[in-house]
Amino acid sequence: MPQDIQRYMEALRKELHEHNYNYYLLDEPTISDFEFDEKLKTLQSLEAAHPEFFDPNSPTLRVGGGVTKYFPTVEHRFRMYSLDNSYDAEDLEDWEKRILKTLNEPVEFVAELKYDGASISILYENGHLTQAVTRGDGFQGDEITANIRTIADVPLALKGDFPERFYMRGEIFLTKKKFERINAQRMEEGLDPFMNPRNTASGSLKMQDASEVKKRGLSAVLYQFVAEDFPTGTHWGLLEKAREWGFKTSMQSKLCKTLDEVKAFILYWEKERHTLPFEIDGIVLKVNDLQQQRQLGYTAKSPRWAMAYKFKAEKVETELLSVSYQVGRTGAITPVANLRPVLLAGTTVKRASLHNEDIIHKLDLHERDFVYVEKGGEIIPKIVGVHQEKRAADSRKLSYVTHCPECGTPLVKNEDQAIHYCPNEWHCPPQVVGRMIHYVSRKALNIENLGQETIEQLYREKLVEMPADFYTLTTSSLLPLERMAEKSAQNIIDGIEKSKTVPFEKVLFGIGIKHVGETVAKKLVKTFPTIEALMAASMEELTQVEDIGGKIAESIIQFFAQDENKRLIERLRAYGVTLEKKDTAQAVLSNILEGKTFLFTGKLSLFTRDEAEEMVEKHGGKNISAVSKNLNYLVVGEKAGSKLKKAQTLGTVVILDEQQFLDLLGN
Ligand code: AMP
Ligand code: ZN
Repeated sequence: MPQDIQRYMEALRKELHEHNYNYYLLDEPTISDFEFDEKLKTLQSLEAAHPEFFDPNSPTLRVGGGVTKYFPTVEHRFRMYSLDNSYDAEDLEDWEKRILKTLNEPVEFVAELKYDGASISILYENGHLTQAVTRGDGFQGDEITANIRTIADVPLALKGDFPERFYMRGEIFLTKKKFERINAQRMEEGLDPFMNPRNTASGSLKMQDASEVKKRGLSAVLYQFVAEDFPTGTHWGLLEKAREWGFKTSMQSKLCKTLDEVKAFILYWEKERHTLPFEIDGIVLKVNDLQQQRQLGYTAKSPRWAMAYKFKAEKVETELLSVSYQVGRTGAITPVANLRPVLLAGTTVKRASLHNEDIIHKLDLHERDFVYVEKGGEIIPKIVGVHQEKRAADSRKLSYVTHCPECGTPLVKNEDQAIHYCPNEWHCPPQVVGRMIHYVSRKALNIENLGQETIEQLYREKLVEMPADFYTLTTSSLLPLERMAEKSAQNIIDGIEKSKTVPFEKVLFGIGIKHVGETVAKKLVKTFPTIEALMAASMEELTQVEDIGGKIAESIIQFFAQDENKRLIERLRAYGVTLEKKDTAQAVLSNILEGKTFLFTGKLSLFTRDEAEEMVEKHGGKNISAVSKNLNYLVVGEKAGSKLKKAQTLGTVVILDEQQFLDLLGN
């Protein structure tokens, strides 16, 4: 029935629009790229067969969703097309046939890795980077120049004989190592880990603070020269030139004389891709000759002279044996699927992460289901679907745990969070042990020789239950422990003794306040030089510290409201642990700024921001992070923006330039 077909096409379009939105705007795809492409292809063939149901807004005619509103929107001088996809040798042969039919002469191809990140177009004028824009919907994107400038792989100034004005396109991505490092740090700070490197890379590009972008450690590779005129006749030649001008191009690109060479390249990387330090999701092929490229031209959405070959996300079916629940240091519950072991992407998989209850519901998991496990962008394999037909008739729906598997306490869950927590932070074993392991870790109190195993042993023997208990240990209490020699017992005691001199900021990090990581601890100590000052701080005072938002402030207040924590601090003090800032370099120079608050904005040229803030402190003043009625002085450098405007509207803030600030100090 034609109406049925039309209805089906409309449903497909609607669904694809939604997936585009999830992918491009939310950065949260809910289906795999492969499934998406399958659906898109179905729609494409239906549209070809039924031109009467044409829709000018069909997802087949557009690349992706809209443009986020936080960065200026910029029109692309040259449209950023999408790539057509192929999945097997036959697709490639068809593509070559189509090319040969148009050209009637031999073709060479350049084969490149398909980097799995976010694409970017960078404008260079007279050898200088002047603008960087995301792909957006292909016609217009977000201008994120400041963020791109922070990426070390992107040259700001070129060398050699470069054209006056051109665009370089490339991919911004995160290496697997950097991604893992970011997640390790997030876990340490009690934040949820990111899902995969690609989303993290594109999310990072949209952060508002360029210095935060820099911290992410993004990488870039440039793979396409675009301009009105070309300095050479082939894509391969352009890549060589780009390298001479100082661009980082791919090390793995290959000039292929025949389609067979292309196929060999694909085969090689399909196997070896796991050895790369970054993720790729396929191979990109481009016709080498630029004249031939022009002859081939474009379809409505992609160049005819280029083709993506997409690797299938490796996917296998296996049986779900059970679900176990892990309890983290912060009490967060993570469900883990235990699977019948199966080979996937070169490793044996026994477990898959399920993240949270919502995901289990979405999958409609039942006991002993046969599930599809995929290793796509994610480092940890995940369950992407259920083989419904194989489900036993009497199989029951999985029900989520209601009580902590470690201590039996009923779990709690906040409305706005997906994750369940065990609230028994003082007596739930993994939380208690986790807190102590964190306390002795290198970046905290750095107690060498006291490892996880020893702490677990000590806990089992009821010798320690919270960090303060370490200071009650003696060699004679340690010696009865299994495999504990005199020498190592003495080393542990020495290490514990030495920890008393560790600076306050590390202690503050070590006591494990949720959301207070290393950096936040440092910033807190700058404003609150003693634990008493911090414990007495109000919500308002806390949120005035740079980078401390409501969530962190609330967590600090809650922490010190608990009797157990107050007791912990009292005991640490009694044992002589450092609970105040001891910094002789920070000696007070005067108190002329006492009671006054300062904020620096814009580009400073006489001193750095850190130096400026230190000067304020040395003269008895205080730095705060936002313009409010509590601000006394705003010191403005070049190009000051919204903060200056706000201060001017308030009318209560004294506005100084850098020299006036120095004058104030009497220099
Ligand atoms: P798709 O998003 O599937 O249409 O694929 C096109 C995207 O592949 C481009 O927008 C780029 O972000 C990405 N890509 C990764 N590596 C390359 C490459 N070597 N050449 C061209 N595009 C690439
Ligand atoms: Zn518990």
